[in-house]
Amino acid sequence: RIVYVNGDYLPEEEAKVSIFDRGFLMADGVYEVTSVLDGKLVDFDGHAKRLERSLKELDLVAPVTMDELLTIHRELVARNDLEEGGVYLQITRGAPADRDFVFPDPAETKATIVLFTQAKNLANSPAVQKGISVISIEDQRWARRDIKTVQLLYPSMGKMMAKAAGADDAWMVEDGQVTEGTSNNAYIVKGGKIITRQLSNDILHGITRAAVLRLAKEAQMEVEERGFTIEEAQQADEAFITSATTFVQPVVSIDGATIGKGEAGPVALRLREIYIDESRKKAI
Ligand code: PLP
Repeated sequence: RIVYVNGDYLPEEEAKVSIFDRGFLMADGVYEVTSVLDGKLVDFDGHAKRLERSLKELDLVAPVTMDELLTIHRELVARNDLEEGGVYLQITRGAPADRDFVFPDPAETKATIVLFTQAKNLANSPAVQKGISVISIEDQRWARRDIKTVQLLYPSMGKMMAKAAGADDAWMVEDGQVTEGTSNNAYIVKGGKIITRQLSNDILHGITRAAVLRLAKEAQMEVEERGFTIEEAQQADEAFITSATTFVQPVVSIDGATIGKGEAGPVALRLREIYIDESRKKAI
């Protein structure tokens, strides 16, 4: 695999960053994952805009422009012959002379940028028809989940808790209401209405979420942005998640309770289809 590090395209085993990089020492960095369909980037613009926002919130100065970033994404997709999967991008605050809690002066320490591709079946994922099972866990992440930082230890622990319970993923709960999945946004469907938590600092503003809600409204489906409890979700007609790497993925069980008929629901499957159709058409 060819990866990108600070201006160079290299075989992955030759790519190196400093042990003093603040991404490594302090999780001081942000990332994006953009999906690739038919060798093209899905909603690059949405990801670039969210990246700029994450960087700004952390006073991080990008080492490249967003135009250059698009070129790097495309070059990496081409060099790796990637037809379907994702491009992972990470920008960290670089490697100052020594470890220090205080941010280094951006004039003296340049941010580190790394990109690599991951091949994956996205459009024909086998998990779609079967649906996934989730457990609920307490949301113990920090309070700025709207910033897409590389601080992913708690979500990783959540996936491990799910695995230990024989489930596929975990939905996190705060003050009695679901925030989101470990690496995706969470939804339920009740009487045809799509319900998902409103945007705030409590959740990541999913790029797939924005597209799916827009498409749902365009298809005359009703959307309500509000929190919901695990009990309400267990009694819903359907449940699903969205993310750049799963698109729309049906959820068929929550804490052992079967959702609806225990199979992929019609609203989730329809949204998935229109999302993939549009993404293929608009990918660049
Ligand atoms: N929520 C969290 C916590 C995530 O980590 C992700 C994706 O990584 C999402 C939601 C979905 O965001 P997107 O649709 O932009 O991939």
